[in-house]
Amino acid sequence: MYVIVGGGIAGLAAAYRLQSRGHEARLLEASAEVGGLAALYDTAGDPIEKFYHHLSKSEETIVELADELGVGDDVEWRIGENAYYRDGVVHPLDKPWEILAYPGLGLYDTFRLACLTQGIDVRGGRPRFDTYDELSDFEDVAVREFILEHTTRGVYEGFFEPLLRAKFGDRVEDVSAAWLLGRIKFRGERDLLRGEVLGYLDGSFDVLLDALVDAVGEDAITTGARVVDLDHDAEGVHAVTVEHTGEVGDDGDPGRIETIDDGIDGVIVAAMPNVLEKLTGYACDIDFQGAVCATLTMDEPLTDTYWLNVADDAPFGALIEHTNFVPPERYGGDHLLYVASYVQSPDEQNWRADDAALEDRWLSGIEDLFPEFDREAVSAFRVARNPRAAPVYERGYLETVVPYDLADAGLPGVYYAGMASRAQYPERSLNGGVVAGFAAADAADDDPDAATDDDSGSAGGDESSEYGVPSDARGSGVR
Ligand SMILES: Cc1cc2nc3c(=O)[nH]c(=O)nc-3n(C[C@H](O)[C@H](O)[C@H](O)COP(=O)(O)OP(=O)(O)OC[C@H]3O[C@@H](n4cnc5c(N)ncnc54)[C@H](O)[C@@H]3O)c2cc1C
Repeated sequence: MYVIVGGGIAGLAAAYRLQSRGHEARLLEASAEVGGLAALYDTAGDPIEKFYHHLSKSEETIVELADELGVGDDVEWRIGENAYYRDGVVHPLDKPWEILAYPGLGLYDTFRLACLTQGIDVRGGRPRFDTYDELSDFEDVAVREFILEHTTRGVYEGFFEPLLRAKFGDRVEDVSAAWLLGRIKFRGERDLLRGEVLGYLDGSFDVLLDALVDAVGEDAITTGARVVDLDHDAEGVHAVTVEHTGEVGDDGDPGRIETIDDGIDGVIVAAMPNVLEKLTGYACDIDFQGAVCATLTMDEPLTDTYWLNVADDAPFGALIEHTNFVPPERYGGDHLLYVASYVQSPDEQNWRADDAALEDRWLSGIEDLFPEFDREAVSAFRVARNPRAAPVYERGYLETVVPYDLADAGLPGVYYAGMASRAQYPERSLNGGVVAGFAAADAADDDPDAATDDDSGSAGGDESSEYGVPSDARGSGVR
């Protein structure tokens, strides 16, 4: 039997893949619900993710999985319009003429930006089409120096800098050019006349998570079950210690300790690397940034765009109006707006503020940008925080990713599918979680040392952190 630590999409995907290969899998999730970072709120209609989520056209594994699980017809491809708020004005930035009209860039800047996003190197006056093919060539190059060298100062200051600051704060200097180029390639399709094509599921990503839970089988999943210890040595993993929280899915005995020590073939850790470190001692050097994201329920729309980056001073990084992507009719006619900010340190005000203080700070920030905004139109302000929302993609990042199979690191029988895995680069995503879950399960399945059970089985908070809470087309490439 394989034990899976974590019931986010990666853990569920790993359990599903192991079972489909004839193995028994038991998934343990610390919190009361599976889903991890894709957890949901209720609305007056369909549920909605606590943190904004969509798919890019280049992400295929998750779409194939949805097909395989019978929910492929629920995957919808919609236009997600982008805009930039600058000098008090919302500038749409999807169609070529909108980009030309954007006042943050001169004509030559726009040309150089377009060349970069199309992968054409025009330095020296002679176009080259292969400069950006090998991302590893840019692993150790700082993103700022790269943009200045490969485009213009106007492109950096007028376009990328505010986006990078919103995404990485004062860590911008550390971020690699390979990350940016990877993001540019990662972003999928654009409809030249309409904007970026993005994916969502009719009914939210919960439809896919539910289908995965059905496929894996509820008997194979225990929620309210935190893995607190692994007994492992050079022979493999012998026992897994689980603390039951009593929240759900167990016998209502908070603090009950269970030891699983019968026939363990391996353990897949599908959680953040700090959980892996606590359980096995494997240290991962990747730094993570936190996220604070409020979901506002409103009587009326704020803008007519999906994704609004803010270049002007504001206490948040982006305004993401979900109901300009998925229609408000799906949510009982309400308009849903995410207000989002990454945080680099627990000392930042957006992290320290309690919900009431944050609401006041962010609604005032919206009023400053949109004087006609009426805070009375906001009927709910719900806040989600996570201290490990995304890696900081520093220079040399790929050398620090955690391998799927940790045998060579002295941990036979331990596999990793969490956010520090290769599949979650150059951007962490649900698709990356599925790919990582599959890859870790495949590594376990191929492992000649692991015994296989031919009896096929039934078909989000991590450890507390320095943040003091349990964590659980081509475009610019920066979101
Ligand atoms: C602000 C934000 C925006 C995002 N936007 C997008 C987007 O637009 N598109 C997209 O595809 N992706 C997006 N993502 C990323 C996506 O949500 C993640 O990549 C994905 O959900 C990660 O899944 P996971 O299973 O690896 O990890 P998680 O979802 O973090 O799951 C790990 C699980 O492990 C559990 N756990 C931790 N410790 C233990 C333990 N000791 N024992 C048992 N269980 C434990 C946790 O409770 C959690 O449920 C976004 C994420 C954030 C934060």
